[in-house]
Amino acid sequence: MPMQSDSFYARGLRFSCTECSLCCRFDSGYVFLSDHDIHSLTQRFTLSRRQFIDRYCRQIDVGIAARITLREQKNLDCIFWKHGGCSVYSDRPLQCRSFPFWPAHVASLAQWQALRRECPGIDVGRLHSREAIEQWVNRRNREPFCNPQQEQRK
Ligand code: SF4
Ligand code: SF4
Repeated sequence: MPMQSDSFYARGLRFSCTECSLCCRFDSGYVFLSDHDIHSLTQRFTLSRRQFIDRYCRQIDVGIAARITLREQKNLDCIFWKHGGCSVYSDRPLQCRSFPFWPAHVASLAQWQALRRECPGIDVGRLHSREAIEQWVNRRNREPFCNPQQEQRK
């Protein structure tokens, strides 16, 4: 997605994770997976795609499309939250590793500022350049969420 040089984040945005764990725990917020995410995690667990999806994922309808999301534990922690951290950290989905630089979050200053209510790391700490932010946005656009209908044909 081409960006304007006068974008609200032309001079970068500040973000540093405080490791509060709110985005991994206590909520059924979705972690949507791409084909590449599923591939990485099946390699990690030595499972087929079908086995991995049956064990760790569920399918949901988000209105405009169906998507594959990670399951939650009974207390609504992400299924991969174990022993105080992400148990698949080096293979965590793009949605997790690219946070907070998702296309929707950087679409406008208002959307970026609204994130402050969800994440204490927004607008504090490390400065991320416009180029770095655009790299995350472009990677998300190149790596779309997995389509469950196509998945069933694999
Ligand atoms: S909510 Fe923000 S600060 Fe807390 S763990 Fe997630 S990214 Fe880090
Ligand atoms: S995969 Fe890891 S980083 Fe992503 S929500 Fe689950 S525990 Fe958090």
